[in-house]
Amino acid sequence: MYDVLVIGGGAAGFYAAIHIAESRPQTKIAILERGKEVLTKVKVSGGGRCNVTHAEFNPSDLSKNYPRGEKELLGPFHTYASGDTVGFFEERGVALKIEDDGRMFPVSNSSQTIIDCFLSEADRLGIQVKTHCSVTGIEHIEEAGTKKWKVAVGDSFMFCNKLVLATGSNPKMWNYIESLGHTIVPPVPSLFTFNIKDERIVDIPGVATHAEVKVIPKKSIGKKSSRLKLDASSLTSEGPLLVTHWGMSGPAILKLSAWGARILEQYNYQFRIQVNWVPEYHQDGLLALLLKVKQVEKKTVLRTKVLDIPKRLWANLVNASGIEDTVTWPAVSKQQLTILAEQLTAGIFQVNGKSTFKEEFVTAGGVNLKEINFKTYESKILTGLYFAGEIINVDAITGGFNFQNAWTGGFIAAKGVVNDLNTNSE
Ligand SMILES: Cc1cc2nc3c(=O)[nH]c(=O)nc-3n(C[C@H](O)[C@H](O)[C@H](O)COP(=O)(O)OP(=O)(O)OC[C@H]3O[C@@H](n4cnc5c(N)ncnc54)[C@H](O)[C@@H]3O)c2cc1C
Repeated sequence: MYDVLVIGGGAAGFYAAIHIAESRPQTKIAILERGKEVLTKVKVSGGGRCNVTHAEFNPSDLSKNYPRGEKELLGPFHTYASGDTVGFFEERGVALKIEDDGRMFPVSNSSQTIIDCFLSEADRLGIQVKTHCSVTGIEHIEEAGTKKWKVAVGDSFMFCNKLVLATGSNPKMWNYIESLGHTIVPPVPSLFTFNIKDERIVDIPGVATHAEVKVIPKKSIGKKSSRLKLDASSLTSEGPLLVTHWGMSGPAILKLSAWGARILEQYNYQFRIQVNWVPEYHQDGLLALLLKVKQVEKKTVLRTKVLDIPKRLWANLVNASGIEDTVTWPAVSKQQLTILAEQLTAGIFQVNGKSTFKEEFVTAGGVNLKEINFKTYESKILTGLYFAGEIINVDAITGGFNFQNAWTGGFIAAKGVVNDLNTNSE
């Protein structure tokens, strides 16, 4: 019999358990992890460096990075946000650094530093960490007039007063939760790259530039989508775009994959995008600029650097506009420049499928947010049941925001559990 069982030895589970044990040292608490190791996602996160959080310290701006959860996380972020995460790690001797794009990593550049910090905290606080403990059932039972949780682990059972579920995006656990009366928003992948085979980019993998990308909405995508009120008309993002061997990646694409996770799944990952390689220009303004260049330049179009985009990309777009390598500015026609302006500001690319972004990926979907009290992360349906991390229908764009969801949820659920235990023991 435990005061608290935390199911899931990942980021959210450890954060919750540590905060419970720290604020209420007498709590008998265990983390149950099905794998042979704990914190396996932390280990591989951020390419092995663990992008712990993001240097966005304003709760309202922070919440804008969550395609699912933006509204619900605003309150929790006023209680616990990125600055608190930095404080937690610094107090435990783990210094974090901010990179140019705002991502925060341990100074050591190693996710092992974060794992070591959690393991030593768990040890110091007397938290039992039990690996090879796959939970296969959960029941809310009543014994001597008190409600308790009965947790099935293999052939045996464990009991506790308060249960924290932090099992990430595990479909089996979602089934158990559903059988307890919760609803689960169906899972779909988020944070992926776009597969594109196109002669304008096929020979330039590695080229990176700042671009604006829009998903071109499909007219009809069937009944299911209208029920979900999915609309691709506002799916636009701007940022660094990286050409890869398979298509396109980089923050501009990953952001679209996150905001469009559900609708792009409805499109079966077959859709078209419009790319503006020079977002500071519209087509007409750019054509006006190209016509001015035509009046003064004598060299070939191919060899003139008119815009701040990579040379190889410029060359491919010039070719795609039907302008041959030897054509000079005086010889190029207005019609060709019109096509070039269109290629540069509104090039259409067909996406056929997606690929995993190796540095970070996440699942959209999970426990319905309407069924969670975000002041405590307790279930609104069952008392004494708390959630934290990716198990709930929250996910973020890339950049450390997904872990911040785990830290915030873990911290607030811990506070909820501790208040609950203290009230019950009074
Ligand atoms: C390759 C990769 C890199 C990433 N990099 C970053 C990054 O740099 N920054 C960032 O912010 N986010 C990153 N993410 C996302 C981030 O890892 C997750 O959002 C985060 O780990 C979620 O934490 P969690 O504790 O909710 O779930 P998890 O970390 O998935 O932990 C859940 C744990 O529960 C256990 N479990 C599941 N079912 C059971 C069961 N029935 N019984 C017992 N145990 C069970 C699992 O084995 C697992 O250990 C990355 C994700 C991936 C896949």
